[in-house]
Amino acid sequence: MHSIDQIYIDGTFVTPHGEERFDLYNPATAKVIGTVRLGDVEDTRRAIAAAKRAFETYSRSTVAERIELLHRLHKAVAARADDMSAAMTEEYGAPPERAHWTSVYAAQSFLDAAKTLETYPLSRRIGTAEVMMEPVGVAALITPWNANAGFICSKLATALAAGCTVVIKPSEMSAIQTQVVLEALHDAGLPKGLYNVVNGRGDVVGNELSTNRDIAKVSFTGSTAVGKTIMRAATETLKRVTLELGGKSPTVILPDADLETAIPLAVAAGFVNSGQACIAGTRILVHADRLEEANRLVKAAVENTVVGDPLDARTEVGPMVSLKQWERVQNYIRLGTEGGATLLAGGEGKPDGLGGYFVKPTVFTNVTNDMQIAREEIFGPVLSVLTYRDEEEAIAIANDTDYGLQAVVIGADLAHAHEVAGRLQAGRVLINGMHHEPFAPFGGFKQSGIGREFGTFGLEAYLEPKSLLGAFAA
Ligand code: NAD
Repeated sequence: MHSIDQIYIDGTFVTPHGEERFDLYNPATAKVIGTVRLGDVEDTRRAIAAAKRAFETYSRSTVAERIELLHRLHKAVAARADDMSAAMTEEYGAPPERAHWTSVYAAQSFLDAAKTLETYPLSRRIGTAEVMMEPVGVAALITPWNANAGFICSKLATALAAGCTVVIKPSEMSAIQTQVVLEALHDAGLPKGLYNVVNGRGDVVGNELSTNRDIAKVSFTGSTAVGKTIMRAATETLKRVTLELGGKSPTVILPDADLETAIPLAVAAGFVNSGQACIAGTRILVHADRLEEANRLVKAAVENTVVGDPLDARTEVGPMVSLKQWERVQNYIRLGTEGGATLLAGGEGKPDGLGGYFVKPTVFTNVTNDMQIAREEIFGPVLSVLTYRDEEEAIAIANDTDYGLQAVVIGADLAHAHEVAGRLQAGRVLINGMHHEPFAPFGGFKQSGIGREFGTFGLEAYLEPKSLLGAFAA
């Protein structure tokens, strides 16, 4: 049993003032595996005060000093990568490949931030002015359970590169992962107060961070509903906000695509992280004339998907994170049938022989874009196949959503697929594969978010430009 009793303030593990205990589950077994003691408003204020004190000196650190510190953090986090993977698997049932990818990415994000900072012009001349890019102040970093360790590291890396100090509020459901990350960060031996971590509830710790006048910026990753609450709360003190929110991403399979390769790719894009991913490609668009062939291949791809114990290296789809999430997914499967869609694979209930919070990977066909399952983020392995008659209609359906985080385009003619990609309203469009570019901006159009993370776009989100006039002769 895990018993996580401490938070981290001013360079020290401390017992929180808050006394509430929150149960942690292994979703593969539905058993309690530990508890975390949650911080409260008083803990949050102490953490903010520590970050504010540290900001005084850290905001004036040199680029070389920050880069050295980021390298130290990389080394310390990389040393705990296996423990981090194990925690993700135990705590939210992350499929092994995903858990491994995330722990590598978490450590790498410190090197990426250092590299971005190396060449970024923190001071430049514009006409007669010197423009300085200054750290915005103390930043609050709020993370979701499905990407907790990764986003703690990548947000922290970028904030520190910019010269900000931070208070982190991880997902309360991710305390085991947070503990591993925190121990690693502590091992790096940074000056005290640069980062402070308060486990706690969103409406308590998160709300204090969103309203406290000493917080200059909130970087939030989570649901669109909570993102809106944070933005409203942050208005009073005009905080800068970066919001990375939900999605309902389309995978557009163009008429010239080879369906034998396109469909398995599309299904994998939908089932990424057991479907519990903001970027999951949950709407698969195929040409109406090829629906029958597509249905056959989708069915085969789902049958080939390995569902089960996340400790098994072959597993591609693990359990849902919680009973609440399991019920939510069941409800959407019911809504799919009631709404008139045709069940092609999966369905309600648990897969044979599996307990815990496992669901059957499910695909509906004959879905129209007005159906609830095509419009709302389900956050589980439930996909919809929709048809279009021509490319104009495909683009219109793909863009007819409140979201705009990611899209995938698959086609034989790369130049043409590139053209279609240019017309999709999404912060990131992947052409013919599940690519990753750590220095390209990541973030959403429309209700998928505000602002961008990663690379120079991400760094600038923690910087405030200041013009010094009279610095140069006219
Ligand atoms: P969530 O919005 O319920 O919670 C996210 C975080 O916000 C948690 O730490 C939670 O405690 C906190 N929170 C809750 N209420 C709050 C409040 N009133 N004020 C401040 N903080 C509050 O999301 P979740 O269930 O943890 O994660 C799943 C969601 O995250 C999905 O919608 C998914 O699409 C989204 N997500 C987006 C991205 C992205 O990069 N765009 C990445 C991963 C997940």
